Amino acid sequence: MLPEEVLRQAAAEMMDYQGTGESVMEMSHRSKEFKKIIDQAEQDLRDLLEIPDNYKVLFMQGGGNQQFAAVPMNLMKNGVADYIVTGQWAKKAAKEAEKYGKVNIIASSADKTFSYIPDCSDLEVSEDADYVYICENNTIYGTKYKTLPNTKGKTLVADVSSCFLSEKHDVTKYGLLWGGVQKNIGPAGMAIVIIREDLIREDVMACTPTIMNYKITADNGSLYNTPPCYNIYICGLVFQWMKRMGGLDEMKRRNEEKAQILYDYLDQSKMFHATVEPDSRSLMNVPFVTGDKELDAKFIRESEAAGFINLKGHRTVGGMRASIYNAVPREGIVALVEFMKKFEQENA
Ligand code: PMP
Repeated sequence: MLPEEVLRQAAAEMMDYQGTGESVMEMSHRSKEFKKIIDQAEQDLRDLLEIPDNYKVLFMQGGGNQQFAAVPMNLMKNGVADYIVTGQWAKKAAKEAEKYGKVNIIASSADKTFSYIPDCSDLEVSEDADYVYICENNTIYGTKYKTLPNTKGKTLVADVSSCFLSEKHDVTKYGLLWGGVQKNIGPAGMAIVIIREDLIREDVMACTPTIMNYKITADNGSLYNTPPCYNIYICGLVFQWMKRMGGLDEMKRRNEEKAQILYDYLDQSKMFHATVEPDSRSLMNVPFVTGDKELDAKFIRESEAAGFINLKGHRTVGGMRASIYNAVPREGIVALVEFMKKFEQENA
């Protein structure tokens, strides 16, 4: 979900962006108007996250899966990396990285269907690991790291796609954090990479496509080729919206309040149950089940008819999942809980 305010602004500017006589969709990426859009978007993101000057911000096409490959290609120097597998996306990232080097799985929560985040305070980090990789918020399973792993001095790389800008990330704790923008920030198909400058290397793997090379992307200000201009423009509008709303502390406050309403109900319901252990729960993705597949299916049918869309759990896990990203208003959660209460009464 994107903020309605942003969609309205985009609609109003669709035919004529600020008196230019053209849509951002039609604009040359080399024009001064677009340069202003991309520079402003980067600056607003830097302000929101307080990104230190020694980190670069890269706008890259290709979404999340492309970063699964770009990370090892650009960062593997010894050809070794440690991955912590807490769900499908971390697993896929590890599998992709195996094409380019040696991957050690140093922790996993597969033993309990990824319903928790493992203790990462004292892991056996490989001596020669170029980085330790995590997926910080597990979109499908609804878990989130409350404490970042102790990487024992190794570079931390995090996929923050589904918690991006849901609260403040302390950028200095990561060597690289990247997120697909399609959850909290903008249209699908793009990822934002925030990388510490010393990790940007010239001698990346020979197989690295030019378009996935962090150095080339950084040296060209994300304009090596024609970038997804319209995506960048929408991301920029969302950053401005976040600033107007009070920044990331306010996003966090709202997200905690929203999630609490739903988890509180789930924890006392006799019908619906949250599937994630309390200390690993995501603020963004809330999976739940009734324990009865037919009842789940009935709930999904009836909730959809009542206007609650996308409540079906991921196709690989079933059940239900409420994705309550930044732009979902508190009233939306309250209405969902009211609907669930009514369903529980009617089907007791
Ligand atoms: N990482 C996470 C945490 C995700 O949730 C997703 C997609 N939902 C991806 C990676 C993959 O992103 P994409 O579909 O853009 O390749």
